[in-house]
Amino acid sequence: MVQRKYITYNQVHKLCQESAQKILNEFKPSLMIAIGGGGYVPARILRSFLKTKDSANIPIQAIGLSLYEKLSTGNSSSSGPEEKAGHTVTRTQWLDFSAVKNSDLVGRNILIVDEVDDTRTTLQYAVQELQKDVEMAAEKMGRKGEETRFFVFVLHNKNKDKKGVLPEDMMREGRYLAAETVGDEWCCYPWEATDIDEHDRLAAEAESKKSASKPNGN
Ligand code: 5GP
Repeated sequence: MVQRKYITYNQVHKLCQESAQKILNEFKPSLMIAIGGGGYVPARILRSFLKTKDSANIPIQAIGLSLYEKLSTGNSSSSGPEEKAGHTVTRTQWLDFSAVKNSDLVGRNILIVDEVDDTRTTLQYAVQELQKDVEMAAEKMGRKGEETRFFVFVLHNKNKDKKGVLPEDMMREGRYLAAETVGDEWCCYPWEATDIDEHDRLAAEAESKKSASKPNGN
């Protein structure tokens, strides 16, 4: 049976808060692209921490990518929140700048936000496709000389062999940030919970078991 890790809204908030300083100082994004649906809440929380008094809010664009399929056991009473990875990434939504004047990807620092990096397939797809869009747009607008830099932020990175690959220069230059590295367990996020009190209870139970197992109890 897959281990589950229950994450509360408070923990999500604090993971964003802890990562914000590095993102602000080193990544300096001027646009966030949230991968839906798991990237939406972290991106929105992060935006509040990235707001400085001299700057406007960083715009958030959304893309929808789907790789996972609900695990079906044929018995609804025993089915949990876990999903299994499909083989291909499906685009369910892409960028829309139609309502935004003078806005495009070229020459920006762009932060891609998702909740979890599991096999890395989704992130690889997102970065590759966005890079292609940038190259095409730059070509069209005669702005090929401008550097566009992509960064990645996830709440959780699962420590496991990855199927997907991110650009070598992104990893080398530290343009990838995971707020927390976890084992190969299923992360249960609060926005997926149908009973948030039970979700929080399970998260608190796991926390107290963890501190009870530590030698000094904290
Ligand atoms: P990857 O392409 O890295 O295998 O998976 C990324 C996507 O799969 C995530 O955006 C998320 O939708 C889903 N996913 C993978 N692992 C988990 C998990 O542990 N918990 C949840 N809630 N979603 C997951």
